Amino acid sequence: MNKKLFFSIIFTILSFIAFANTNSEDVKHNSDYDYSYIVDFFKSYTSGQADETIEIESNNDDFYAQFALDGESSTLVNPYKVSLDSLPDSVYIACADYCYPTQSQRITSRFGIRGSRFHSGIDVGVQYGDTIRSPFSGTVRYVAYQRGGYGRYLIIRHDNGLESVMAHFSRTLVKTGDTIVAGTPVGLGGSTGRSTGPHLHLEFRFLGNAFNPEKLIDFNTTNVKTNSENDLYLLTLADTYSHRPQLEEMKRAAYHRVRSGETLSHIAKRYGTTVSRLCALNRLKQTSILQIGQKIRYR
Ligand SMILES: [Zn+2]
Repeated sequence: MNKKLFFSIIFTILSFIAFANTNSEDVKHNSDYDYSYIVDFFKSYTSGQADETIEIESNNDDFYAQFALDGESSTLVNPYKVSLDSLPDSVYIACADYCYPTQSQRITSRFGIRGSRFHSGIDVGVQYGDTIRSPFSGTVRYVAYQRGGYGRYLIIRHDNGLESVMAHFSRTLVKTGDTIVAGTPVGLGGSTGRSTGPHLHLEFRFLGNAFNPEKLIDFNTTNVKTNSENDLYLLTLADTYSHRPQLEEMKRAAYHRVRSGETLSHIAKRYGTTVSRLCALNRLKQTSILQIGQKIRYR
């Protein structure tokens, strides 16, 4: 064997070992974790109140049985219809199984109000073809393609009670019903759907209600924000859903579409408001020229 070939083989072996090591450090595995407590909790939602006599299974199947893996398009992301008002004040989310989902920590857009829409997730800049991994263990609930929206996306039902929505893949690597662990590659980075460059759109939802992923994951360190002793994340209505006033503000919002010949004062008069209020709501000047078809928020 020549020297060059020998060293290149050694190098390949060493880099494989190095890669394997980084991987096992990144992924925290504790597959024996007992998630039954969350079943108890979910059952209290399906029956209206907690039923102490129900025997606790080791998975969430009873709760999820009524929500098919392939749902109707209008209810794909949130089939649960549990309002924020009826969420518990707090619940512990087990994060013993965890893997940061990408190689990138470059946040390109944060959770929250984006113009007249609400951005229910966080955008992490990735490269085309980058491996995207499942953050927690669970079952793939849905894999689909939505033109002009999520693009190629999937929804994972995690064993700990959370759900992940991940979008804009160039390719998905799993199918509906697949059982996966934290760190399982689920797709490749891309820019499908409503997207201007390759990125991962990541949402975390609890009973269908999205919360800011930065509440759960520290994107600077890639660590999950748990109590280090027990790997539990304390999900609370007050903190995890601190964006609630923004959602209520958006619900109150109403828009007018500008027609030919209309001015700000016409619109103000029509809705019983003032020109200066319209300007503030729409970041316009009193002298701004309106375009036909432009959406003007009046409330
Ligand atoms: Zn996004």
